[in-house]
Amino acid sequence: DFSVSLPITSKDELGDLANSIETLATELSYLKEQRNEFLASISHELRTPLTYIKGYADIVSKRNLSDEERNKYLNIIKEETDRLTGLIKELFDLAQMDQNTFVIEKERIQLSPFLKKLEEKITRAFEQEFKLSCEPNIEVIADPVKLEQILINLLDNARKYSAKGSTVKLEAWKNRNSTHIVIADNGKGIPEKDLPYIFNRFYRVEKSRTRSLGGTGLGLAIVQELVHAHGGEITVTSIEHHGTRFEIIFKGE
Ligand code: ADP
Repeated sequence: DFSVSLPITSKDELGDLANSIETLATELSYLKEQRNEFLASISHELRTPLTYIKGYADIVSKRNLSDEERNKYLNIIKEETDRLTGLIKELFDLAQMDQNTFVIEKERIQLSPFLKKLEEKITRAFEQEFKLSCEPNIEVIADPVKLEQILINLLDNARKYSAKGSTVKLEAWKNRNSTHIVIADNGKGIPEKDLPYIFNRFYRVEKSRTRSLGGTGLGLAIVQELVHAHGGEITVTSIEHHGTRFEIIFKGE
């Protein structure tokens, strides 16, 4: 327990010191609380898929099932295993970021061909229309693997939280001192009250619905850390039932 009581209220150096220690103690106990919450979320998120896997494995091994039923249950087992694998990868990424052992290998990237290639790759994978518009000859200094990870995360969300067949916009342009990349969808949007929290670890707007879409609530936390690691910023605007727009800004290029 970090709580301390320092009954020193004098306005001299000792008083200042007492104030500093008190502030530090509050900060430490907040961090401790956050860490506990994070660990509780991790154990919950790991346990849920394991419960499904164990449950369906029991059914498949014990009951006499039709081929169709067995395949259905085996598919659930496979999906939940994929979910666990994804979750562990995301947790590993975050742990590396927390320890600053995360390596960013920056290089000069021509955005237009980079985004074109990404668009082709994900149009095939996601079965979703993307509308790409990128000013010619703009460059960013970034890690191409991490930039792809950022954009795929945002584009995947845009697809997950939009109606099938709707168009997702991917735009890039350059201002005098900054490069901007926007991902915008016409999907279900995010309620205003949730907007301040969506970059928090494990935060999901609708827990059960987003789980069925494969969501862990870690994607945007990772995206934000990756953007910050590049010295960039990410902002979001959203209108419920109309759509969501994420903007990434890389400065000083
Ligand atoms: P998840 O893995 O659940 O998608 P994220 O961290 O990527 O987690 O996103 C956090 C939450 O923000 C999501 O659960 C979802 O509720 C909301 N969200 C993110 N992107 C969008 C979007 N494009 N449209 C609507 N809601 C979104």
